[in-house]
Amino acid sequence: MKADAPPGPECPYCSARIPSWPQRLPVYGCTRCRRPLYLYPVRIARPQIYKIKPLFQLAKQLTAIAALWILIVIFLNFAAIQTVFCAVILTFFVHGSMDLADGYLGYKTSIDRTWNKLTPSGQVKLRAAMRMAGGGGLVVLAIFGVASILV
Ligand SMILES: [Zn+2]
Repeated sequence: MKADAPPGPECPYCSARIPSWPQRLPVYGCTRCRRPLYLYPVRIARPQIYKIKPLFQLAKQLTAIAALWILIVIFLNFAAIQTVFCAVILTFFVHGSMDLADGYLGYKTSIDRTWNKLTPSGQVKLRAAMRMAGGGGLVVLAIFGVASILV
């Protein structure tokens, strides 16, 4: 935190100050970058301590764990190919929809964060478009995957 910044929590995505968090609401949208944020419990015993984290980051971490699990299952031949295929479809859909939404918000707000760094303002629209294209591609693949199961 900067020395002259007013006290209070900051958005982990864009560093904007969060004036207040609505009570009993686990997810809240940043007013500047519009990314959904959630409260991550660091300490459950009183006094309770929470960290504010971007929801898209959680979803991407979960899909990375799912991808690792899928690779292990394929390598060790633990599950039926149909189960692995469904897991891949679900992972593609979750990761793709998160990238699609993140890219859209990056395009709308001109704020983008890639590899844990804010993108320079001249490259935000290009990165947002690339993110939307990648996310849209994953969602289309997931839809084709579901269609191939149903047919
Ligand atoms: Zn923000």
